[in-house]
Amino acid sequence: MDLFWHRRDLRIADNVGLAAAADRGAVAPVFVFDPDVLSHASDVRVRRLLDGLTALRDAYRDRGSDLLVARGDPTTVLPAVADDLDAERVVWNRDYSGLARERDAAVRRALAEDGIARDAHHDRVLHEPDAIRTNAGDPYSVYSYYRKKWRDREKDAPAPTPERTDLVDEGELVEGAVGDGDDVSVAVGDLPTPADLGFAEPDAAVGPAGTEAARGRLSAFLADDVFTYADDRDYPAHEGTSRLSTFLKYGEIGIREVYAATEEAMATAADRPEEDAEEGVAEFQAQLAWGEFYAQVLFHNPSVVTENYKQYEAAIGWRDDPEEIAAWKRGETGYPIVDAGMRQLREEAYMHNRVRMIVASFLTKDLLADWRHGYDHFRETLADHDTANDNGGWQWAASTGTDAQPYFRIFNPMTQGERYDPDAEYVSEHVPELRGLDPEVVHGWHELSPTQRANAAPDYPDPIVDHSARREEALAMYERARGED
Ligand code: FAD
Repeated sequence: MDLFWHRRDLRIADNVGLAAAADRGAVAPVFVFDPDVLSHASDVRVRRLLDGLTALRDAYRDRGSDLLVARGDPTTVLPAVADDLDAERVVWNRDYSGLARERDAAVRRALAEDGIARDAHHDRVLHEPDAIRTNAGDPYSVYSYYRKKWRDREKDAPAPTPERTDLVDEGELVEGAVGDGDDVSVAVGDLPTPADLGFAEPDAAVGPAGTEAARGRLSAFLADDVFTYADDRDYPAHEGTSRLSTFLKYGEIGIREVYAATEEAMATAADRPEEDAEEGVAEFQAQLAWGEFYAQVLFHNPSVVTENYKQYEAAIGWRDDPEEIAAWKRGETGYPIVDAGMRQLREEAYMHNRVRMIVASFLTKDLLADWRHGYDHFRETLADHDTANDNGGWQWAASTGTDAQPYFRIFNPMTQGERYDPDAEYVSEHVPELRGLDPEVVHGWHELSPTQRANAAPDYPDPIVDHSARREEALAMYERARGED
């Protein structure tokens, strides 16, 4: 028997490690609540993780099996559970962040000491971080070059789904590894509540979880929206993106399955009525490549989690005003598109990509606040928080990342609002104080006099900063960091 250790792959289908274990014989699945990992978690992510685990457990139960749920340090838990079940081997899929790699190395050592075999698989991404390098053999730091190689490389087909008979019966699991020790507790299918893990129920609605919901979302997106994605993806009110990020973060749908479905959509694109149908599918695939690009940036540069990727001559002199940062978090900056984004985040634990770029630019280049404040807030509040993608997004916006936004390109929140939310639909949805106002008034909020603002929307704040003045300050801040003073 093999023990399969689920981590960021809460699914049975298209799961490379699980399929490999099932190919050899019986498999018992386990999830381990690791106190170390939980110490970096948030209310939102714990709720969403538990929802994903519930869906996974139910999928195992539908197949006559169940999910073992353990708590403790995996270096202790996994050898103990493997021992109780007489499992020969522990199998998992590789994770690429620095902390995950350290943990996996420790687990390997612990299992080796107990004479238990280890087997790790390439599953999470289409191309592993080491697989795509420049012709000189270096990791890529420019996305467009990386993407070209990524696109041209052959992709694996989805992994086979294990048969019901490959999974250990629920009864056998109950007889095997259940019980409490000093550092370990193991139960069959018994999931904790957030409070058991030391977390609160979040205020945000975290959205549906599990493979079925992910597949529903994917097929709805590929039936229609993908063919207009190239044009629509930038308009937050259109909701023309896939909303797959949280499912992908928890691995509730396999990346090979997603990619294969996009190729099927591509095969039909030429016959579609939309003008840019093929471009839409290609653009969507390019977003998947962004995720793999950032995964390899983090893999090769684990320090980016806390440090700038790009070196300036001198430290950037961030202003870091606590009141301004707090107003940004609350969605009360007086810049409607920024506030709408921050409130969407609070309500849905999600924010549209265009608006993530706008609010990130606003924090770093209008409030002149260190990107780490924004990253920490997103880490706490996003359901799809992924270290590589979140960090990549923030460092791009702050002009400290790989192929970063040049420091002199500073988003103007008013023109961004006018261009990407022309009818102020997105703002109206999330900022009720501004509902019903003319879009010109909404996006021109900073140009109104205090009296006009008080008459139009008395409960909505005045702009907390002057964009033009802050733009000049930001340029000076970056120029000093570049040694151009
Ligand atoms: P779609 O447009 O449908 O894209 C499909 C998938 O491609 C996404 O689900 C995601 O897996 C991937 N993807 C899309 N855009 C990007 C991108 N720019 N970088 C990396 N992968 C991408 N994405 C996260 O998954 N987790 C994060 O924590 C995260 N933080 C971000 C922080 C900032 C400051 C910025 C600017 C972007 C961040 N992104 C993050 C990227 C992007 O905003 C989200 O992936 C996207 O909005 C998710 O919505 P969707 O699934 O509908 O995307």
